[in-house]
Amino acid sequence: MTHTPTWSLQQVFDLYQLPLMDLLFKAQTIHRQHFNPNEIQASTLVNIQQGGCPEDCKWCAQSVHHNTKIEVYPLMKTDEVLHKAKQAKAMGASRVCLGAAWRKPTASQLGKVKEMIATIKSLDLEACVTLGQLSTEQAHELKDAGLDYYNHNLESSPEYFAEMTTTRNYEDRLRTIHNVQTAGLKTCCGGIVGMGESIEDQMTLLMNLANLSPQPKSVPINNLTSVVGTPLEHQNQKPIGDIAFIRLIAVARIMMPQSYIRLSCGRERLSDAAQALAFFAGGNSFFLGEKLLTVNNRDQVADKALLKSLGMQFDNQTAYIPTQVCVQHAE
Ligand code: SF4
Repeated sequence: MTHTPTWSLQQVFDLYQLPLMDLLFKAQTIHRQHFNPNEIQASTLVNIQQGGCPEDCKWCAQSVHHNTKIEVYPLMKTDEVLHKAKQAKAMGASRVCLGAAWRKPTASQLGKVKEMIATIKSLDLEACVTLGQLSTEQAHELKDAGLDYYNHNLESSPEYFAEMTTTRNYEDRLRTIHNVQTAGLKTCCGGIVGMGESIEDQMTLLMNLANLSPQPKSVPINNLTSVVGTPLEHQNQKPIGDIAFIRLIAVARIMMPQSYIRLSCGRERLSDAAQALAFFAGGNSFFLGEKLLTVNNRDQVADKALLKSLGMQFDNQTAYIPTQVCVQHAE
């Protein structure tokens, strides 16, 4: 396994508290050492089974413990996944991520997901899945099926995670990440901010992510989108500011120089200028498509227009980039 340096909480704070211009310059300098600064990796998230999750995560619309209005549906057919994967590729995505609201997959569920992975791989796309807890044997099965990435987020600091969910624990999450890495899969592992946590919780999350060995190859940073009917339904009234969010992206880039840092949930609330600054801070991945699980995502035409106006492109070179320079879109 690759050796990664160990970060202390103080070191993370020291980065976070740098003057913004110094922080951005440092992040962009490191970013350029590992990535083309004018490329964005795009993934599309397909919720292959929605709702009815037995866990009680306070932020999540899919928990049976909350009274949300989402549509609950069973596992999709592989044909439908194929259709969505083709759409994703046509939009410019290089990876399709499949999500299911499970505590852990059964053997039969895993068998169906393996078929879906084969379908995605047949289109020459990367495949990622997020299915809950996974044993080492299951991780090996998915690796053998051609899976590239397994997503399992740390979500927050251990202390704040325990406040946000009582039916699962941090140690289980670390165990699944270990099982996934043992099987040779790349990890997609990040968290959520804006849930009412402290800056120290945010720094601890980034420290714990960066101290994983090997570091996660993809790091989704979600900025909470509150869902009516969840315990956090009013949390969006106390958002973390754009500058604070961009600082987190920059710190993540510096600490995890070879990872894709993904602007995830909440990106639709960022202005074009704030997104441009987040890309400069080292954010080089986002989700493409109308939905992120149960919440809305940014409009894809606006996304492509933004990239065009910045002289950026998807890392999938076959992507179609429209010619218009600026498109106004509803926030
Ligand atoms: S975040 Fe995942 S585990 Fe938690 S309730 Fe939602 S679907 Fe279930």
